[in-house]
Amino acid sequence: MKTRREHLENAKTIVIKVGTSTLTYENGLLNFDRIEKLVRQLSDLHNQGKNVILVTSGAIGVGATKLGLKVKPQTIPEKQAAAAIGQGILLHIYEKFFSEYSQIVAQILLTKDDITNKTRYNNAKNSFNELLRHGVIPIVNENDAIAIHEIKVGDNDTLSALVATIIDADLLILLSDIDGLYDSDPHSNKTAKLLTYIPEITEEIESYAGISKSKLGTGGMATKLKAAKISTKNGVSMIIANGSNDTIIKDIISNKEVGTLFVGKNKGGEL
Ligand code: GLU
Repeated sequence: MKTRREHLENAKTIVIKVGTSTLTYENGLLNFDRIEKLVRQLSDLHNQGKNVILVTSGAIGVGATKLGLKVKPQTIPEKQAAAAIGQGILLHIYEKFFSEYSQIVAQILLTKDDITNKTRYNNAKNSFNELLRHGVIPIVNENDAIAIHEIKVGDNDTLSALVATIIDADLLILLSDIDGLYDSDPHSNKTAKLLTYIPEITEEIESYAGISKSKLGTGGMATKLKAAKISTKNGVSMIIANGSNDTIIKDIISNKEVGTLFVGKNKGGEL
């Protein structure tokens, strides 16, 4: 069985998912300081010879703020319009910051069809592989501007696990506003323990998912656990960690005791 260190330090292809709560302030505006530090860390990871893929949320929230909406968009057309505006703004910011660190980025927008339809799955895979071969950092989101309920993955935790599967990644990092999965509520219980290494998602582990609540994200811990199941089943280890820590990526890769690691099943059958 591989150690936590081996899972983290040897990861070559890494998908990083960042949630709206990490990218924006509570008023919906972008947290440039946070984004810039994230981009710097990802660029540094890329310079270490890793394949880096960013899955980013935020399109709908940023678009809604730009439109001056007082409440979150509710209907599908409202969400589509907000996403069409916000996605452009997001990419513009990423492009600007990544180019300061001499990185090339590309945008990939997916819907459920791109994952469930074999031909489209292969198309997406080829596109990712070609970009990675050229040293490009793909920036991925759901194609919310055209997606309707039936063709939506729905949340970016799940989307990032599917992306990690498509490209056969070694590690998926979910950055959120929580440190990871706890065995009891850390807000009310001072002795609550952060679980750092989960070799198997048991019923007990699932029961902890209701406890570790995130403030703003779409799915909270439930979608994170769903993502962990998808990715580990497909041989990708996944770690949940706190995106408000400015050195979090470095801390993870150098195996500091941060976050909750779910161990990916070895493609050959062994852990
Ligand atoms: N795709 C959505 C967006 O960019 C976010 C979904 C999520 O937060 O999980 O606004």
